[in-house]
Amino acid sequence: MKTIKQNLFWAFAYNVILIPVAAGILYPFFIYSGVPAGLQFILGQYGFLNPMLAALAMAASSVTVVSNSLRLKGFRPPQIKDSNTKGGAQMTIDPVCKMEVDEKKAAATSEYKGQKYYFCAMGCKKAFDTNPEKYLTVKK
Ligand SMILES: [Zn+2]
Repeated sequence: MKTIKQNLFWAFAYNVILIPVAAGILYPFFIYSGVPAGLQFILGQYGFLNPMLAALAMAASSVTVVSNSLRLKGFRPPQIKDSNTKGGAQMTIDPVCKMEVDEKKAAATSEYKGQKYYFCAMGCKKAFDTNPEKYLTVKK
């Protein structure tokens, strides 16, 4: 989150600083005195931003964003792996495809002989309903 904020800050900063300069906002300040010699390289003779420098600044801003994003790659949030309680969810096995299904998020459910079954998809439920015994014979 911090890196994203930094990226936004730099993108924002470059734009805020450079767009008015590029738009010639400094022009009125220099029109009487002329652009100081030291600034002429940056601002040109009339207070407009040198287009090449604008391009450079944009490249620099991209580099800032990219290098910040690269730092993100090195960061991996610790993951708690617990196959049976994913965030307190009740996990059950889809009898058709043997996939783990969260009871609360099951795509379909079916009741057979008083037992409730959970399915990952409607296709699995349909297959089960057609011939429940086929999928329950392996059940211990
Ligand atoms: Zn399934």
